[in-house]
Amino acid sequence: MESAYKELCGRLRRIQVLGSVSGLLGWDEQVNLPEGAAGQRAAQAELLAELHHAAATDTGLCAAISACEQVLAAGGLDADARVVVAAARRDYDRVVKLPVELAAEKARLSSEGYHVWAAARKARDFSAFAPILEKHLALARREAELLGFGECPYDLAIDRHDPGLTAERIGGLFAELREGLVPLVRRIDARVAADKMCARTPVALRGFDLAAQQRVVRAVTARLGFDYKRGRLDVSLHPFCEGSGDDVRLTTRFNADEPLDALYSSIHEAGHGLYEQGLPSAQAGTALGVAAGMAVHESQSRLWENQVARSRAFWRWLEPTMRAEFPKELAGVDGDALHWAANAVEPGGLIRVDADEVHYNLHILLRFELERRLFNGTLAVADLPAAWDALSTELLGRRPEHAGEGVLQDVHWSGGAFGYFPSYTLGNMIAAQLWTAARRARPALEEEFARGEFGGLLDWLRAEVHAHGRREDAFALTLRVTGEALGPKALLAYLEERYGG
Ligand code: ZN
Repeated sequence: MESAYKELCGRLRRIQVLGSVSGLLGWDEQVNLPEGAAGQRAAQAELLAELHHAAATDTGLCAAISACEQVLAAGGLDADARVVVAAARRDYDRVVKLPVELAAEKARLSSEGYHVWAAARKARDFSAFAPILEKHLALARREAELLGFGECPYDLAIDRHDPGLTAERIGGLFAELREGLVPLVRRIDARVAADKMCARTPVALRGFDLAAQQRVVRAVTARLGFDYKRGRLDVSLHPFCEGSGDDVRLTTRFNADEPLDALYSSIHEAGHGLYEQGLPSAQAGTALGVAAGMAVHESQSRLWENQVARSRAFWRWLEPTMRAEFPKELAGVDGDALHWAANAVEPGGLIRVDADEVHYNLHILLRFELERRLFNGTLAVADLPAAWDALSTELLGRRPEHAGEGVLQDVHWSGGAFGYFPSYTLGNMIAAQLWTAARRARPALEEEFARGEFGGLLDWLRAEVHAHGRREDAFALTLRVTGEALGPKALLAYLEERYGG
């Protein structure tokens, strides 16, 4: 019975290794790829998708799963093995229903889509990107049909990122959030406007040396616990984190006039990286060695980015480093002003990745609503820009002037990554809940931050979240760790505490 389980884990590990090669090619595509190599890369991505599909649908894998199920039925193996076998069965039963051509087509389209999207965004021309989006939607619908999600194809898209979640369940949580968030945002916006009338605005940080920015970003992320012996930090158009285990790749971007953008996007991606580095590496490839889902993943990145790195205690520690690296740039900017700049609230911002904490979730409510309409057939791709602009006016109070700051701003749809956006806001909810629980468990956390000590929080997250892999979904994990059901209350209370006064 041991041998069947060993066989299964070995096969799962090989599938994971193949996936990691695809991931590395995807990283390279966004970090290094020469402009003329896009076609060659698409062919490589397509071949790897075929190999991955072959390994994931191998009859030997099915036999190993069945053998393990028999052992389990006879009372053998432990609870961990039960989790691994159940997840392997679920994944196998799904992927075996998808023809290899579909997997290859999706990989090719995602690779091609990235370059088409980047050019369309630059040209602010949605019509150039629309055919890619149409094709991705058609593929997603076909997949849903094949996997028995024909009635609600959006649920499959969501389930891929967060197993067990549905559009209906998210819709309920988001409606509850919106009810509390919109009045809070309006109140804060009004105060920001009143401050502006009295010429009280956050200080503008301009002309920050790029080499010094790189040193600061690397030092901060290392201090938070990111292990650079098992990871890297590079530059890309859109910051992201790729990889797992001993090879975690973070990317960021640098702009002399936006030093906090590089800092916070790097901390965000490092939060993802800390989670990946903290998963049990001996279990790589099995459900015990992968993240619980993207909502929990985003809870990790957002917790480090916001609750930790925008706190006053964090800035008490960071300020001397910033002054040493940017003596000229920060001359005349006092500590309070610096902390305020890190927590600046900007009503009417149109770009999600630049959004402050107060407005961020409005950007997600917008995307969730549009994806839902695209999938349920009430919105055509051709009408998407107009629908985006209308919702932007309604939720954010401003209409984009062009597609580059509207419907084309995010990379996700170029890769057919529908159903991912809700993970950000669910992640924000979970982050706020974890933050409450962490402070309860370690009341001196913020004093530790002020001394530049982050190991206490990281150890707590390792024990409570990272070590558990995918034993639980986002709901079960949140309930176990925080004692509360996943919901928006803690997030609203946190935003009120930090920005409401
Ligand atoms: Zn993220």
